[in-house]
Amino acid sequence: MLPRGEPPMSFEEQRDRMVEEQLKARGLRDVRVLAAFRKVPRHLFVPSEFHHEAYADHPLPIGAGQTISQPYMVALMTSRLRLQGHERVLEIGTGSGYQTAILAELALDVISIERIPELLATVKQRLADLGYLNVQLLAGNGSLGSPNHAPFDAIIVTAAAPDVPEPLLEQLAEGGRMVLPIGSHEAQTLVEVTKRQGAITRTPITGCVFVPLLGDYGWPGP
Ligand code: SAH
Repeated sequence: MLPRGEPPMSFEEQRDRMVEEQLKARGLRDVRVLAAFRKVPRHLFVPSEFHHEAYADHPLPIGAGQTISQPYMVALMTSRLRLQGHERVLEIGTGSGYQTAILAELALDVISIERIPELLATVKQRLADLGYLNVQLLAGNGSLGSPNHAPFDAIIVTAAAPDVPEPLLEQLAEGGRMVLPIGSHEAQTLVEVTKRQGAITRTPITGCVFVPLLGDYGWPGP
């Protein structure tokens, strides 16, 4: 309960607090990433019954059995892409579109692929309402990437894969970075994959739990 007479915190104040207590306190320093988290209205990316929890330190349900990731996980993955503003980014697993909006703030353009059409329709409207013009949303199996839009300077997969999908490796630009959770259904390791002079390097970052990536190069789907 709030003390009597204390006004509730505005969403903007909640965002500032989220950045201080969840992101900066855990060592995230990229000023452009932190600015994007202060700006993007996360509460508009969750169902209205969860508005009051939108800035809390955990994932939330978004319908269709899917989740919007914990703010820290979105920020950690985003920072590892080391975006400067000129990049073409591929996102697999649009979900709520929150990560998509963060990427749209930080890169030149974003291609995001989602397999559940209902989620995609909601996100299309949401991102248009917020004025994001540098995002293309595609329906389908994202583990196949989007050869027509490749190569990508950065690739982010926000669903858990058994291994790095081969088509995504092929579509990663020279000097590019990919971040994705790899492991079983129950638990995964977040991994950064880089391509330099054609050589692929994998660096484990931390343990994590994501919903499964389904379809070819992912897990067998429904
Ligand atoms: N980044 C999202 C997290 C969404 S959860 C957010 O911030 O809200 C992961 C999403 O990946 C789900 O919406 C799920 O439907 C989608 N997904 C799973 N397998 C997929 C595939 N093969 N291609 C595209 N999307 C996929």
